[in-house]
Amino acid sequence: MRSFTTLHLQYAHRFYNFRGEAQYLHGHTGILTIEVEDSINCGVNMVFPCNEIKKTAWEVLQNFDHALILREDDPLLPAILAVYDQQGIRNGTATNTMTGPAFKTALATAHPQCRLVVTKETMTVEGMIKIVYDLLKDKLKIARLTFVSGDNSAVQDYTPSGTTDRCPCCGIALSANGVCPKCGCRKM
Ligand SMILES: [Zn+2]
Ligand SMILES: [Zn+2]
Repeated sequence: MRSFTTLHLQYAHRFYNFRGEAQYLHGHTGILTIEVEDSINCGVNMVFPCNEIKKTAWEVLQNFDHALILREDDPLLPAILAVYDQQGIRNGTATNTMTGPAFKTALATAHPQCRLVVTKETMTVEGMIKIVYDLLKDKLKIARLTFVSGDNSAVQDYTPSGTTDRCPCCGIALSANGVCPKCGCRKM
């Protein structure tokens, strides 16, 4: 069976060199749905607690929220960084607190201190699904990702393998020694 959760991400981007309105800088509220597949964990009668899916995903994905997402070869990138430098906000401010850990994958690099994500490819809805899967594939047993942004939507199915040992008391993944890192229960 599957458990799924939905996250909202507000971001600005543009499609550099695209022949259409999207080549101009603009913003969206994107809606990401993450479906996780496994057996039903008998102890809690769940596949996986949805708030835990959300927490795990948000840890890294908050770097896309209230962020600017630009392709690495977009000339807006150095232009914007120059303004941030001039204002003294490139390396962060006391009020920029909603930051996850910086990450760097083959597809995207997060600069949380200035709420910027630099991507290898244009950040379309399809591009976002590739980036998200890459960031979360080792943390969650993802069966499907759906991303909706305005009138654009994309979906991709995956085949997660095997089953994860989860806590019989709270449902989260057990650590390697069979003890729950959250509530301390042991595998039954
Ligand atoms: Zn757009
Ligand atoms: Zn537990």
